[in-house]
Amino acid sequence: MDISGQNFIGGKWVPAKSGRVFESRNPATGELLAQCADSGPEDIEAAVGAAREAWESWRRLPAPRRGEILFRVADRLFHDKESLARSLTSEMGKVLVEGRGDVQESIDMAYYMGGEGRRQFGHIAPSELPDKSAYAIREPLGVVGLITPWNFPMAIPAWKSLPALIMGNTVVLKPSPETPLTAALFMKALEEGGVPPGVVNLVMGSTPDLGSALVRHPDVALISFTGSKVTGGKVAVDAATHYKRVALEMGGKNAILVMDDADLNLAVDGILWSAFGTTGQRCTACSRLIVHRAVKDQLVTMLLDKMAKLRVGDGLTPGVEVGPLINRAQLERVHQYVQIGQEEGARLRVGGRQLTEGNCAAGHFFAPTLFDQVTPGMRIAKEEIFGPVLSVLEIKSLEEAITLNNSVEYGLSSSLYTRDVNRAHQAMHDLRTGIVYINAGTIGSEVHLPFGGIRGTGNGHREAGQAALDTFSEWKSIYVDYSGRLQRAQIDTN
Ligand code: NAD
Repeated sequence: MDISGQNFIGGKWVPAKSGRVFESRNPATGELLAQCADSGPEDIEAAVGAAREAWESWRRLPAPRRGEILFRVADRLFHDKESLARSLTSEMGKVLVEGRGDVQESIDMAYYMGGEGRRQFGHIAPSELPDKSAYAIREPLGVVGLITPWNFPMAIPAWKSLPALIMGNTVVLKPSPETPLTAALFMKALEEGGVPPGVVNLVMGSTPDLGSALVRHPDVALISFTGSKVTGGKVAVDAATHYKRVALEMGGKNAILVMDDADLNLAVDGILWSAFGTTGQRCTACSRLIVHRAVKDQLVTMLLDKMAKLRVGDGLTPGVEVGPLINRAQLERVHQYVQIGQEEGARLRVGGRQLTEGNCAAGHFFAPTLFDQVTPGMRIAKEEIFGPVLSVLEIKSLEEAITLNNSVEYGLSSSLYTRDVNRAHQAMHDLRTGIVYINAGTIGSEVHLPFGGIRGTGNGHREAGQAALDTFSEWKSIYVDYSGRLQRAQIDTN
């Protein structure tokens, strides 16, 4: 059976109820990969119904048993890692080595959350009254709705669904219209790992009303959303009008700070990887280089030298380091930002154009781009571009660099290159982002630590780590009074 472009509802692979389809295409070649179910609110209704029905038995299954299922899911993903990575690269465009990393994050998360099945610790606290015990346990929420972007098409669905499942929730996943097939492959691994019918459901589609139908559905207890700030704002408003809990992970405008005492060779490698890895399409991508003026010219020269050697092309071609942008709209958006940068007076040092030569002819390729002489007020220094565009800003001190880092509306990731332990510690305390790296770039988080950001990046929740368990559970406090008489807290305490 060809399940590739179908919804997964109640344990069955099914087309959209309307019969409508939309296309998934390879962004490097334009090749049509599949016709996919173009679902509507009626499909969301069916999926939420299936998830609601499955919840009672799933939440009653002991958490260690749920964990064993997640271990089997991890094994499936591990077994199929290479073919999954290749499919992911064909659909999303990131180079194969990064496609493997995307799948590996899902494997890591499945093992990590599988282990949480035996570690759902609560609290035991002494009661203020005699012959009374008090403790707190975690409870699942019910049906949770997951809305995901395209840039980590397997890892982000895994980051959300695996902690949701281990906590005893059932799931409806609404993936990005750019990467429905990768989401379906992830669902297939869950199915083959033994997740019972209805516990996870997938509804794909091309229109924004699909996501809003999930947000508005009265039987969905929580929405976990990752995507742009604009869409996140709409989801938050929608959720608020339905008194719904919502966890938002949104954009970034991340910076690498390079001090005058830094190891510049190390910094150059970190900057290249952070700015042009995944073609700059990571929420944690570095798009600002804040560099001490004493080393700026040298660092820019070193960067330009290495940028000239970056190989752009189809991510499945060996040796290619930078893949395509996801689609034409994103290509045009990046191009527009280059024009804005030039109009604002920044100096374009390299790139700034679409690539159409050779094996770039059929895809959405853009040359790795560097702007110098960027000032903090320019739009390219403040707004998320989500492409291979790096802006260089010059500073005279660490304090100035930190202030500049903290001045943007986002607060996801930041990094400092220095050999001075005092500067490193000052930065760790004063950089206002959810993630800080010292002597490494802005990308590379691991699944067992909290992931997320402050200000315009998030609304106070975190993905991954133990923090993900908080997102997908409620605390319940339990008091057992075995004194055999009425005891009044705060009153009968003397
Ligand atoms: P997007 O906001 O366009 O779409 C995200 C998801 O929301 C998609 O599934 C989309 O179909 C859905 N959607 C669109 N309109 C909706 C609506 N009105 N109601 C409900 N859902 C709706 O984002 P994108 O282009 O897919 O992804 C890129 C963005 O994601 C970037 O801004 C990037 O920084 C961000 N991102 C953030 C993180 C993080 O963890 N902070 C991680 C990855 C990507």
